[in-house]
Amino acid sequence: MNFELSEEQKNYTETVSKFVRREILPDILPLEQAHRFPGDILRKAWELGFLNLSIPESVRGYAVDAVTTALIVRELSYGDTGVSTSAMCNDLANVVIALHGTPEQQSRFLRPFVEAPLIASFCLTEPGAGSDNSAMTAFIRKGNDGVYVLNGEKCFITNASFASQFTVFCKAGSPKGLMMACVIVPCDLLARAETAEHPNGSREIRLPGGGTIRTGKPEDKLGQRLSNTAAVTFEDVPIGEDQVIGDRRRGFQYVVDVLDFARPMVAAIGVGLARRAFDVALAYTKERKQFGQRICDLPVARDTLVKMWKKIELADLALLHAAWKVETKAEDRGIYASLAKNTAAEAALFCANEGLHLHGGYGFMSEYEISKLARDAHIIDIYEGVREVQDMIVGRELV
Ligand SMILES: Cc1cc2nc3c(=O)[nH]c(=O)nc-3n(C[C@H](O)[C@H](O)[C@H](O)COP(=O)(O)OP(=O)(O)OC[C@H]3O[C@@H](n4cnc5c(N)ncnc54)[C@H](O)[C@@H]3O)c2cc1C
Repeated sequence: MNFELSEEQKNYTETVSKFVRREILPDILPLEQAHRFPGDILRKAWELGFLNLSIPESVRGYAVDAVTTALIVRELSYGDTGVSTSAMCNDLANVVIALHGTPEQQSRFLRPFVEAPLIASFCLTEPGAGSDNSAMTAFIRKGNDGVYVLNGEKCFITNASFASQFTVFCKAGSPKGLMMACVIVPCDLLARAETAEHPNGSREIRLPGGGTIRTGKPEDKLGQRLSNTAAVTFEDVPIGEDQVIGDRRRGFQYVVDVLDFARPMVAAIGVGLARRAFDVALAYTKERKQFGQRICDLPVARDTLVKMWKKIELADLALLHAAWKVETKAEDRGIYASLAKNTAAEAALFCANEGLHLHGGYGFMSEYEISKLARDAHIIDIYEGVREVQDMIVGRELV
Protein backbone atom coordinates (compact mmCIF):
# COMPACT_ATOMS: atom_id res chain seq x y z
CA MET A 1 0.00 0.00 0.00
CA ASN A 2 1.31 3.41 -0.98
CA PHE A 3 0.02 6.66 0.50
CA GLU A 4 2.33 8.77 -1.68
CA LEU A 5 0.62 10.96 -4.30
CA SER A 6 1.86 10.53 -7.88
CA GLU A 7 3.64 13.45 -9.57
CA GLU A 8 0.49 14.07 -11.61
CA GLN A 9 -1.67 14.12 -8.45
CA LYS A 10 0.73 16.53 -6.74
CA ASN A 11 0.66 18.81 -9.81
CA TYR A 12 -3.14 18.82 -9.94
CA THR A 13 -3.42 19.47 -6.21
CA GLU A 14 -0.96 22.36 -6.30
CA THR A 15 -2.49 23.90 -9.42
CA VAL A 16 -6.03 23.76 -8.05
CA SER A 17 -4.87 25.11 -4.70
CA LYS A 18 -3.18 28.09 -6.41
CA PHE A 19 -6.31 28.65 -8.50
CA VAL A 20 -8.47 28.67 -5.37
CA ARG A 21 -6.20 31.18 -3.61
CA ARG A 22 -6.07 33.42 -6.68
CA GLU A 23 -9.61 33.20 -8.12
CA ILE A 24 -11.95 32.25 -5.27
CA LEU A 25 -10.77 33.03 -1.75
CA PRO A 26 -9.83 36.73 -2.10
CA ASP A 27 -13.43 37.78 -2.90
CA ILE A 28 -15.38 34.86 -1.55
CA LEU A 29 -17.68 36.78 0.82
CA PRO A 30 -18.93 39.46 -1.66
CA LEU A 31 -19.17 36.78 -4.36
CA GLU A 32 -21.30 34.58 -2.16
CA GLN A 33 -23.45 37.43 -0.90
CA ALA A 34 -24.24 38.39 -4.53
CA HIS A 35 -25.72 34.89 -4.97
CA ARG A 36 -24.68 34.92 -8.64
CA PHE A 37 -23.67 31.90 -10.71
CA PRO A 38 -19.83 31.78 -10.90
CA GLY A 39 -19.70 31.40 -14.71
CA ASP A 40 -16.29 33.11 -15.00
CA ILE A 41 -14.69 30.94 -12.32
CA LEU A 42 -16.07 27.78 -13.94
CA ARG A 43 -14.83 28.88 -17.37
CA LYS A 44 -11.32 29.41 -15.98
CA ALA A 45 -11.47 26.05 -14.18
CA TRP A 46 -12.49 24.45 -17.49
CA GLU A 47 -9.55 26.12 -19.27
CA LEU A 48 -7.20 24.65 -16.65
CA GLY A 49 -8.73 21.18 -17.07
CA PHE A 50 -10.45 20.84 -13.66
CA LEU A 51 -13.91 20.17 -15.10
CA ASN A 52 -15.48 17.12 -16.76
CA LEU A 53 -13.05 14.73 -15.13
CA SER A 54 -15.19 11.65 -15.85
CA ILE A 55 -14.93 12.03 -19.64
CA PRO A 56 -13.11 8.95 -20.95
CA GLU A 57 -9.80 8.91 -22.78
CA SER A 58 -11.49 7.84 -26.03
CA VAL A 59 -13.28 11.21 -26.16
CA ARG A 60 -10.87 13.55 -24.41
CA GLY A 61 -7.47 12.08 -25.26
CA TYR A 62 -6.58 11.44 -21.63
CA ALA A 63 -8.39 10.20 -18.53
CA VAL A 64 -8.38 11.40 -14.93
CA ASP A 65 -8.68 8.59 -12.36
CA ALA A 66 -11.17 8.66 -9.47
CA VAL A 67 -8.55 9.32 -6.76
CA THR A 68 -7.15 12.31 -8.67
CA THR A 69 -10.72 13.53 -9.29
CA ALA A 70 -11.40 13.38 -5.55
CA LEU A 71 -8.21 15.37 -4.85
CA ILE A 72 -9.22 18.04 -7.37
CA VAL A 73 -12.77 18.32 -5.95
CA ARG A 74 -11.36 18.46 -2.40
CA GLU A 75 -8.99 21.34 -3.26
CA LEU A 76 -11.67 23.26 -5.16
CA SER A 77 -14.02 22.83 -2.19
CA TYR A 78 -11.47 24.44 0.10
CA GLY A 79 -12.27 27.61 -1.85
CA ASP A 80 -16.04 27.26 -2.03
CA THR A 81 -18.39 24.29 -2.04
CA GLY A 82 -20.97 26.06 -4.21
CA VAL A 83 -18.34 26.36 -6.95
CA SER A 84 -17.20 22.75 -6.53
CA THR A 85 -20.80 21.49 -6.46
CA SER A 86 -21.48 23.22 -9.79
CA ALA A 87 -18.23 21.87 -11.25
CA MET A 88 -18.76 18.33 -9.96
CA CYS A 89 -22.35 18.31 -11.21
CA ASN A 90 -21.06 18.00 -14.80
CA ASP A 91 -19.58 14.64 -13.84
CA LEU A 92 -22.69 13.66 -11.88
CA ALA A 93 -24.63 14.17 -15.12
CA ASN A 94 -22.07 12.79 -17.54
CA VAL A 95 -20.55 9.78 -15.79
CA VAL A 96 -23.50 7.56 -16.77
CA ILE A 97 -22.71 8.31 -20.44
CA ALA A 98 -19.07 7.41 -19.83
CA LEU A 99 -20.08 4.18 -18.06
CA HIS A 100 -23.01 2.97 -20.17
CA GLY A 101 -23.20 5.03 -23.38
CA THR A 102 -22.20 3.66 -26.77
CA PRO A 103 -19.06 5.16 -28.42
CA GLU A 104 -21.41 7.23 -30.63
CA GLN A 105 -23.34 8.54 -27.59
CA GLN A 106 -20.07 9.34 -25.80
CA SER A 107 -18.89 11.31 -28.78
CA ARG A 108 -22.20 13.12 -29.32
CA PHE A 109 -22.99 13.95 -25.68
CA LEU A 110 -19.53 14.29 -24.09
CA ARG A 111 -17.37 15.89 -26.79
CA PRO A 112 -19.20 19.27 -26.57
CA PHE A 113 -17.98 19.51 -22.94
CA VAL A 114 -14.39 19.04 -24.10
CA GLU A 115 -14.79 21.71 -26.77
CA ALA A 116 -16.53 24.42 -24.74
CA PRO A 117 -17.16 25.29 -21.07
CA LEU A 118 -20.70 23.91 -21.03
CA ILE A 119 -22.76 23.05 -17.97
CA ALA A 120 -24.80 19.88 -17.37
CA SER A 121 -27.57 18.87 -14.96
CA PHE A 122 -28.43 15.53 -13.36
CA CYS A 123 -32.20 15.16 -12.95
CA LEU A 124 -33.28 12.49 -10.48
CA THR A 125 -35.17 14.18 -7.61
CA GLU A 126 -38.85 15.08 -7.91
CA PRO A 127 -41.23 16.83 -5.51
CA GLY A 128 -42.73 13.48 -4.47
CA ALA A 129 -39.57 11.39 -4.91
CA GLY A 130 -36.54 12.46 -2.85
CA SER A 131 -34.81 9.72 -0.87
CA ASP A 132 -37.21 7.24 -2.44
CA ASN A 133 -36.48 7.80 -6.11
CA SER A 134 -38.59 4.77 -7.09
CA ALA A 135 -41.62 7.04 -6.46
CA MET A 136 -40.71 9.26 -9.42
CA THR A 137 -43.39 9.90 -12.03
CA ALA A 138 -41.48 11.55 -14.92
CA PHE A 139 -41.72 9.08 -17.77
CA ILE A 140 -41.03 8.32 -21.41
CA ARG A 141 -43.65 6.67 -23.60
CA LYS A 142 -43.44 5.62 -27.22
CA GLY A 143 -45.89 7.42 -29.54
CA ASN A 144 -47.52 6.00 -32.69
CA ASP A 145 -44.60 7.30 -34.74
CA GLY A 146 -42.23 5.12 -32.70
CA VAL A 147 -40.53 8.09 -31.00
CA TYR A 148 -40.41 8.35 -27.20
CA VAL A 149 -41.79 11.46 -25.52
CA LEU A 150 -40.58 12.68 -22.11
CA ASN A 151 -42.88 14.37 -19.58
CA GLY A 152 -42.28 15.19 -15.93
CA GLU A 153 -41.11 17.58 -13.26
CA LYS A 154 -37.78 17.50 -11.43
CA CYS A 155 -36.82 19.68 -8.45
CA PHE A 156 -33.65 20.90 -6.68
CA ILE A 157 -31.62 20.43 -9.87
CA THR A 158 -28.08 21.82 -9.66
CA ASN A 159 -26.99 23.98 -12.64
CA ALA A 160 -30.51 23.81 -14.14
CA SER A 161 -30.70 27.50 -15.10
CA PHE A 162 -27.47 27.26 -17.09
CA ALA A 163 -27.42 23.68 -18.34
CA SER A 164 -26.80 22.87 -21.99
CA GLN A 165 -27.64 19.23 -21.41
CA PHE A 166 -29.86 17.33 -18.98
CA THR A 167 -29.36 13.72 -17.88
CA VAL A 168 -32.85 12.60 -16.89
CA PHE A 169 -33.91 9.51 -14.98
CA CYS A 170 -37.53 8.62 -15.66
CA LYS A 171 -39.97 5.75 -15.68
CA ALA A 172 -40.19 3.67 -18.86
CA GLY A 173 -43.69 3.33 -20.31
CA SER A 174 -45.87 4.99 -17.65
CA PRO A 175 -45.54 7.23 -14.55
CA LYS A 176 -46.29 4.24 -12.31
CA GLY A 177 -44.03 1.84 -14.22
CA LEU A 178 -41.60 -0.38 -12.35
CA MET A 179 -38.67 0.22 -14.71
CA MET A 180 -36.50 3.28 -14.94
CA ALA A 181 -34.72 4.68 -17.99
CA CYS A 182 -31.93 7.20 -18.37
CA VAL A 183 -32.17 9.68 -21.25
CA ILE A 184 -29.99 12.57 -22.41
CA VAL A 185 -31.62 15.84 -23.45
CA PRO A 186 -29.21 18.28 -25.07
CA CYS A 187 -30.32 21.85 -25.70
CA ASP A 188 -26.87 23.42 -26.08
CA LEU A 189 -26.96 26.19 -28.67
CA LEU A 190 -30.66 26.66 -28.12
CA ALA A 191 -30.05 27.49 -24.52
CA ARG A 192 -28.26 30.61 -25.66
CA ALA A 193 -30.03 31.53 -28.88
CA GLU A 194 -33.68 30.83 -28.14
CA THR A 195 -33.97 31.02 -24.40
CA ALA A 196 -36.59 33.42 -23.19
CA GLU A 197 -34.90 34.90 -20.12
CA HIS A 198 -37.51 35.88 -17.58
CA PRO A 199 -36.82 38.62 -15.04
CA ASN A 200 -37.12 36.09 -12.22
CA GLY A 201 -34.37 33.92 -13.75
CA SER A 202 -36.58 31.14 -15.10
CA ARG A 203 -36.20 30.04 -18.72
CA GLU A 204 -38.21 28.35 -21.41
CA ILE A 205 -36.47 26.33 -24.11
CA ARG A 206 -38.53 25.33 -27.13
CA LEU A 207 -36.79 22.41 -28.80
CA PRO A 208 -36.66 22.37 -32.62
CA GLY A 209 -38.09 18.85 -32.82
CA GLY A 210 -40.99 19.88 -30.55
CA GLY A 211 -41.40 19.90 -26.79
CA THR A 212 -40.41 22.43 -24.16
CA ILE A 213 -38.02 22.51 -21.22
CA ARG A 214 -38.83 25.03 -18.49
CA THR A 215 -36.49 25.82 -15.63
CA GLY A 216 -37.98 27.53 -12.59
CA LYS A 217 -36.82 30.54 -10.63
CA PRO A 218 -33.43 29.77 -9.02
CA GLU A 219 -33.90 28.68 -5.41
CA ASP A 220 -32.92 31.11 -2.64
CA LYS A 221 -30.75 28.86 -0.47
CA LEU A 222 -29.34 28.88 3.06
CA GLY A 223 -25.86 28.03 1.78
CA GLN A 224 -23.84 27.05 -1.27
CA ARG A 225 -25.27 30.18 -2.81
CA LEU A 226 -22.68 30.07 -5.60
CA SER A 227 -24.31 26.92 -6.94
CA ASN A 228 -27.50 27.25 -8.97
CA THR A 229 -30.53 25.13 -8.04
CA ALA A 230 -33.89 25.14 -9.82
CA ALA A 231 -36.83 22.98 -10.82
CA VAL A 232 -37.01 21.63 -14.40
CA THR A 233 -40.12 20.58 -16.29
CA PHE A 234 -40.06 18.52 -19.48
CA GLU A 235 -43.15 18.86 -21.64
CA ASP A 236 -43.61 16.49 -24.59
CA VAL A 237 -39.87 16.36 -25.29
CA PRO A 238 -39.14 13.88 -28.12
CA ILE A 239 -36.45 11.35 -27.24
CA GLY A 240 -34.77 9.43 -30.06
CA GLU A 241 -33.49 5.89 -29.49
CA ASP A 242 -29.96 7.32 -29.56
CA GLN A 243 -30.78 9.51 -26.54
CA VAL A 244 -31.58 6.50 -24.35
CA ILE A 245 -28.54 5.32 -22.38
CA GLY A 246 -27.99 1.56 -22.22
CA ASP A 247 -31.01 -0.60 -21.55
CA ARG A 248 -34.11 1.53 -20.93
CA ARG A 249 -35.17 -0.88 -18.14
CA ARG A 250 -31.94 -0.70 -16.13
CA GLY A 251 -32.06 2.89 -14.87
CA PHE A 252 -32.11 1.84 -11.21
CA GLN A 253 -28.76 0.11 -11.67
CA TYR A 254 -27.38 3.15 -13.52
CA VAL A 255 -28.39 5.45 -10.64
CA VAL A 256 -26.46 3.19 -8.25
CA ASP A 257 -23.42 3.30 -10.58
CA VAL A 258 -23.57 7.11 -10.76
CA LEU A 259 -23.91 7.51 -6.99
CA ASP A 260 -21.11 5.03 -6.26
CA PHE A 261 -18.88 7.40 -8.24
CA ALA A 262 -20.41 10.65 -7.01
CA ARG A 263 -20.68 10.03 -3.26
CA PRO A 264 -16.91 9.99 -2.74
CA MET A 265 -16.88 13.29 -4.64
CA VAL A 266 -19.42 14.70 -2.17
CA ALA A 267 -17.10 13.40 0.56
CA ALA A 268 -14.32 15.40 -1.13
CA ILE A 269 -16.57 18.48 -0.92
CA GLY A 270 -17.03 17.78 2.80
CA VAL A 271 -13.32 17.32 3.52
CA GLY A 272 -12.46 20.49 1.59
CA LEU A 273 -14.99 22.50 3.59
CA ALA A 274 -13.92 20.94 6.91
CA ARG A 275 -10.27 21.84 6.19
CA ARG A 276 -11.17 25.41 5.35
CA ALA A 277 -13.24 25.70 8.55
CA PHE A 278 -10.33 24.31 10.58
CA ASP A 279 -7.79 26.71 9.03
CA VAL A 280 -10.08 29.72 9.48
CA ALA A 281 -10.77 28.77 13.12
CA LEU A 282 -7.12 28.04 13.87
CA ALA A 283 -6.03 31.41 12.45
CA TYR A 284 -8.70 33.21 14.47
CA THR A 285 -7.90 31.45 17.75
CA LYS A 286 -4.17 32.16 17.30
CA GLU A 287 -4.96 35.85 16.92
CA ARG A 288 -7.65 36.47 19.53
CA LYS A 289 -6.72 36.65 23.22
CA GLN A 290 -8.97 36.13 26.24
CA PHE A 291 -7.98 35.42 29.86
CA GLY A 292 -4.52 36.77 28.91
CA GLN A 293 -3.87 33.94 26.44
CA ARG A 294 -4.49 33.09 22.82
CA ILE A 295 -7.79 31.18 22.59
CA CYS A 296 -5.93 28.25 20.96
CA ASP A 297 -3.83 27.95 24.17
CA LEU A 298 -6.87 27.59 26.43
CA PRO A 299 -6.98 23.82 27.08
CA VAL A 300 -10.66 23.22 26.36
CA ALA A 301 -10.56 25.31 23.17
CA ARG A 302 -7.45 23.47 22.01
CA ASP A 303 -9.25 20.21 22.63
CA THR A 304 -11.94 21.36 20.19
CA LEU A 305 -9.25 22.08 17.57
CA VAL A 306 -7.81 18.60 18.12
CA LYS A 307 -11.24 17.02 17.68
CA MET A 308 -11.73 18.99 14.45
CA TRP A 309 -8.34 17.86 13.10
CA LYS A 310 -9.02 14.20 13.95
CA LYS A 311 -12.38 14.23 12.16
CA ILE A 312 -10.81 15.77 9.05
CA GLU A 313 -7.98 13.23 8.90
CA LEU A 314 -10.37 10.29 9.35
CA ALA A 315 -12.75 11.67 6.73
CA ASP A 316 -9.84 12.13 4.33
CA LEU A 317 -8.80 8.50 4.79
CA ALA A 318 -12.38 7.34 4.19
CA LEU A 319 -12.54 9.56 1.10
CA LEU A 320 -9.33 8.28 -0.49
CA HIS A 321 -10.22 4.69 0.34
CA ALA A 322 -13.64 5.07 -1.32
CA ALA A 323 -12.15 6.80 -4.38
CA TRP A 324 -9.63 3.98 -4.72
CA LYS A 325 -12.46 1.41 -4.48
CA VAL A 326 -14.26 3.27 -7.29
CA GLU A 327 -11.10 3.43 -9.40
CA THR A 328 -10.42 -0.29 -8.98
CA LYS A 329 -14.12 -1.10 -9.59
CA ALA A 330 -14.21 -3.02 -6.30
CA GLU A 331 -17.49 -4.85 -5.74
CA ASP A 332 -17.93 -3.30 -2.31
CA ARG A 333 -17.33 0.30 -3.52
CA GLY A 334 -20.92 1.34 -2.67
CA ILE A 335 -20.61 0.77 1.07
CA TYR A 336 -17.28 2.67 1.16
CA ALA A 337 -18.82 5.51 -0.86
CA SER A 338 -21.57 5.79 1.77
CA LEU A 339 -19.07 5.58 4.62
CA ALA A 340 -16.96 8.34 3.08
CA LYS A 341 -19.97 10.57 2.43
CA ASN A 342 -21.28 10.30 6.00
CA THR A 343 -17.84 10.63 7.62
CA ALA A 344 -17.02 13.72 5.57
CA ALA A 345 -20.44 15.32 6.09
CA GLU A 346 -20.02 14.81 9.84
CA ALA A 347 -16.52 16.36 9.72
CA ALA A 348 -17.79 19.32 7.68
CA LEU A 349 -20.71 20.01 10.03
CA PHE A 350 -18.60 19.53 13.16
CA CYS A 351 -15.72 21.72 11.97
CA ALA A 352 -17.98 24.47 10.65
CA ASN A 353 -20.17 24.56 13.77
CA GLU A 354 -17.32 24.28 16.27
CA GLY A 355 -15.23 26.69 14.21
CA LEU A 356 -18.07 29.18 14.42
CA HIS A 357 -18.32 28.59 18.15
CA LEU A 358 -14.58 29.27 18.59
CA HIS A 359 -15.17 32.67 16.96
CA GLY A 360 -17.68 33.53 19.70
CA GLY A 361 -20.09 36.31 18.71
CA TYR A 362 -17.93 37.23 15.71
CA GLY A 363 -18.67 33.85 14.16
CA PHE A 364 -22.32 34.81 14.02
CA MET A 365 -21.52 37.87 11.88
CA SER A 366 -21.83 37.43 8.13
CA GLU A 367 -18.56 39.27 7.50
CA TYR A 368 -16.70 36.28 9.00
CA GLU A 369 -16.16 33.42 6.56
CA ILE A 370 -16.87 30.80 9.21
CA SER A 371 -20.55 31.84 9.24
CA LYS A 372 -20.75 31.08 5.49
CA LEU A 373 -19.01 27.72 6.00
CA ALA A 374 -21.54 26.81 8.71
CA ARG A 375 -24.39 27.55 6.29
CA ASP A 376 -22.71 25.67 3.43
CA ALA A 377 -22.00 22.53 5.47
CA HIS A 378 -25.61 21.40 5.97
CA ILE A 379 -26.31 20.32 2.42
CA ILE A 380 -23.36 17.90 2.39
CA ASP A 381 -25.36 15.72 4.80
CA ILE A 382 -28.39 15.86 2.48
CA TYR A 383 -27.72 15.83 -1.26
CA GLU A 384 -26.89 12.60 -3.08
CA GLY A 385 -28.66 10.74 -0.31
CA VAL A 386 -29.36 11.88 3.25
CA ARG A 387 -27.32 10.41 6.12
CA GLU A 388 -30.01 7.85 6.93
CA VAL A 389 -30.02 6.53 3.35
CA GLN A 390 -26.23 6.01 3.49
CA ASP A 391 -26.65 4.13 6.78
CA MET A 392 -29.43 2.08 5.21
CA ILE A 393 -27.05 1.07 2.38
CA VAL A 394 -24.29 0.16 4.84
CA GLY A 395 -26.71 -1.76 7.08
CA ARG A 396 -28.15 -3.68 4.14
CA GLU A 397 -24.70 -4.76 3.00
CA LEU A 398 -23.59 -5.74 6.51
CA VAL A 399 -26.45 -8.09 7.22
C1 LIG B 1 -28.83 22.44 -2.97
C2 LIG B 1 -29.37 21.14 -3.48
C3 LIG B 1 -28.87 20.61 -4.67
C4 LIG B 1 -29.39 19.41 -5.17
N1 LIG B 1 -28.96 18.96 -6.40
C5 LIG B 1 -29.61 17.90 -6.98
C6 LIG B 1 -29.33 17.53 -8.34
O1 LIG B 1 -28.48 18.13 -9.02
N2 LIG B 1 -30.04 16.50 -8.89
C7 LIG B 1 -30.99 15.82 -8.18
O2 LIG B 1 -31.59 14.91 -8.75
N3 LIG B 1 -31.27 16.14 -6.89
C8 LIG B 1 -30.62 17.17 -6.28
N4 LIG B 1 -30.92 17.54 -4.98
C9 LIG B 1 -31.92 16.78 -4.23
C10 LIG B 1 -31.34 15.99 -3.07
O3 LIG B 1 -30.59 14.90 -3.53
C11 LIG B 1 -32.51 15.59 -2.16
O4 LIG B 1 -32.94 16.78 -1.51
C12 LIG B 1 -32.14 14.52 -1.15
O5 LIG B 1 -31.90 13.30 -1.80
C13 LIG B 1 -33.22 14.31 -0.09
O6 LIG B 1 -34.50 14.23 -0.65
P1 LIG B 1 -35.67 15.14 -0.04
O7 LIG B 1 -35.17 16.54 -0.02
O8 LIG B 1 -36.91 14.87 -0.80
O9 LIG B 1 -35.82 14.67 1.46
P2 LIG B 1 -36.71 13.42 2.00
O10 LIG B 1 -36.44 12.21 1.21
O11 LIG B 1 -38.12 13.88 2.12
O12 LIG B 1 -36.09 13.21 3.45
C14 LIG B 1 -36.34 14.12 4.53
C15 LIG B 1 -35.76 13.53 5.80
O13 LIG B 1 -36.45 12.32 6.12
C16 LIG B 1 -35.56 11.38 6.70
N5 LIG B 1 -35.49 10.16 5.88
C17 LIG B 1 -35.65 10.04 4.54
N6 LIG B 1 -35.46 8.76 4.14
C18 LIG B 1 -35.20 8.06 5.26
C19 LIG B 1 -34.92 6.66 5.52
N7 LIG B 1 -34.89 5.76 4.54
N8 LIG B 1 -34.72 6.30 6.82
C20 LIG B 1 -34.78 7.20 7.83
N9 LIG B 1 -35.01 8.52 7.63
C21 LIG B 1 -35.22 8.94 6.37
C22 LIG B 1 -34.20 12.06 6.78
O14 LIG B 1 -34.04 12.67 8.03
C23 LIG B 1 -34.29 13.10 5.68
O15 LIG B 1 -33.38 14.17 5.84
C24 LIG B 1 -30.39 18.71 -4.44
C25 LIG B 1 -30.87 19.24 -3.24
C26 LIG B 1 -30.40 20.44 -2.78
C27 LIG B 1 -30.99 21.02 -1.52
